[in-house]
Amino acid sequence: MQLSATVQKLKPSATIAAAAKAKELKSKGVTVYEFTLGEPDFITPAHIREAAKQAMDAGNTHYTPAGGTLELKQAVCDAYQRDTGLCYEPSQVVVSNGAKHSIHNVLTALCGPGDEVIIPAPYWVSYAALVELTGATPVIVPTTEESGFCLSSEQFEAAITDRTKLLMLNNPCNPTGAAYSVAGLEALARVAVDRAIPVMSDEIYDKLVYEGSEFKSFATFGDDVAALTITVNGVSKAYAMTGWRIGWTLAPADLSKAMEKLQSQETSNPCSVSQFAAIAALSGPQDCVGDMLTQFRERREYVLGRLAEIPDISLATPGGAFYAFFNVSSYFGKPLGSGKVVDNSSDFCTALLEDAHVALVTGDAFGAPGYVRLSFATNLDTLQAGFDGLQTFLNPS
Ligand code: PMP
Ligand code: GLU
Repeated sequence: MQLSATVQKLKPSATIAAAAKAKELKSKGVTVYEFTLGEPDFITPAHIREAAKQAMDAGNTHYTPAGGTLELKQAVCDAYQRDTGLCYEPSQVVVSNGAKHSIHNVLTALCGPGDEVIIPAPYWVSYAALVELTGATPVIVPTTEESGFCLSSEQFEAAITDRTKLLMLNNPCNPTGAAYSVAGLEALARVAVDRAIPVMSDEIYDKLVYEGSEFKSFATFGDDVAALTITVNGVSKAYAMTGWRIGWTLAPADLSKAMEKLQSQETSNPCSVSQFAAIAALSGPQDCVGDMLTQFRERREYVLGRLAEIPDISLATPGGAFYAFFNVSSYFGKPLGSGKVVDNSSDFCTALLEDAHVALVTGDAFGAPGYVRLSFATNLDTLQAGFDGLQTFLNPS
């Protein structure tokens, strides 16, 4: 079969590919220490599962409006108002099959061939791929470890051309854990307004912010900023609901209408039962979010402690999310594990998996050669065993 040029150019998601590689090794009976996917290991909280069961038993198993039910749209608005103070109308919400789908909706509704989309690097694997799917060009702007991997307003301004359609911002960031300061965000917001550039603010890790860092939703910097902001969020990370596939956008009503039209042709609607579960997540008790954060905090401390013991690696301390993104390039060109010598992060990850059965994701996939990503959305015992394996791999005797 002759495949389209678009799909031939498309790379598979590197995070999903790395997880599949680890699972393949596991299926051969090998104990693998898996730190690939950004997926909370907790089961979805009981009251959310219960709401889904009740929805099924009540027969809520049919098509819903394409952009989600009015009840869930209202729950999204209420939760956003509770958390940020900003008022949105249900007509400004489009519920999708996950935040990844929402990002695709945003890009498809706004971008096409000839357009440019600014993406600060390191960036989440799917950002550049989803931009390319629309025919637009990703304009990658590298940020530095010294800046905490945050885009400055000067860098943003310098990257703008008359073809710029959008800035894709991710705060807190996957893969770096970078949490922007309020002042840093405000400076970006001023540039966006002055130059009339829309900003997609992916805030899927908004509930996972650690001591010493802060979170402020991008749209809260004023009505002029909100008019240019598309906020992306979902239930996957905060409520341990990756498999339910519910995400959404909060955006100006005209763009929301366009994205809803897109969904009506592409997917009909997000899963009806999952929508009931998402209402319970957003409107129900929020203690589960704090309880999971407590565990992520403990794991983060452990990971930072173990990384501090390893010589010659560097990282910017993650202020949010559940990733450690560290530079291993000083280990290139030296014998590792069973004696392998590597000169890039992808080969480093392959050798680490083969020799120590520790699965990380290469920084190349995030636009950051020399780095690797470790997801600490997994239990402390696995983290301990994984770090023991990593240390032995780095210091073969
Ligand atoms: N944005 C970022 C930054 C992510 O890390 C992820 C997934 N880990 C998503 C969006 C997509 O989340 P989902 O589709 O599960 O809602
Ligand atoms: N986004 C998560 C990650 O970065 C899940 C995998 C994916 O959707 O790519 O690991």
